[in-house]
Amino acid sequence: MTKWMDISQRLDSHVPTWPGDTPFSYRLTWTKQMSGSVNVGQFTMSTHTGTHIDAPFHFDENGKRVLELDVNLYVGPARVIHLLDVERGKVARIGVDEVAQIDLQGVTRLLIRTGAWADRRVFPEKIPEIHPDLAEYLANCGVRLLGLDLPSVDPLDSKALPAHHALTRHHIHILEGLVLDDVPAGDYELVALPLPLADADGSPVRAILRAM
Ligand SMILES: [Zn+2]
Repeated sequence: MTKWMDISQRLDSHVPTWPGDTPFSYRLTWTKQMSGSVNVGQFTMSTHTGTHIDAPFHFDENGKRVLELDVNLYVGPARVIHLLDVERGKVARIGVDEVAQIDLQGVTRLLIRTGAWADRRVFPEKIPEIHPDLAEYLANCGVRLLGLDLPSVDPLDSKALPAHHALTRHHIHILEGLVLDDVPAGDYELVALPLPLADADGSPVRAILRAM
């Protein structure tokens, strides 16, 4: 049986956060010495640190919260594609033209490797953005989940978040911060389940892939 590959960012004190957002921390609140029996830890993090999903409430006051999202979106067949021109810095936008040559018919979960976030110990200064028009095109192919190796689908300084909104309008959910450096293009099985956070705007996930 093929092995599962971990495509999640490691959560430790070096994981980068959005500028100004809550840094990740983990500490023991009880040590085994203190309690006499167990180590018990506590972690603090932003819901958008590392590999995570966005719930529509992140950018829409009336949008769904994490626990309202369909878990079936986050488990199942997924296609990984590489956009090498993006990786080489030639393309600043991922739109219909960039994916038109790739067969995406019937793909429910699409993961795009751009390679544009090269050093994951620091938050990037600039990332390629998703053109909002891509949302309708992907929805017509059958895509319901879009995953990227980037911290956002919109430019980092965007306030209007046009790609987030366009994707949600077309019922495509967002998975961000994947680590796809060693993942060849192809068809896989994906597991990237959010935590059952009832009210949250996003959730960290442990994302894993295995070849089909
Ligand atoms: Zn996010």
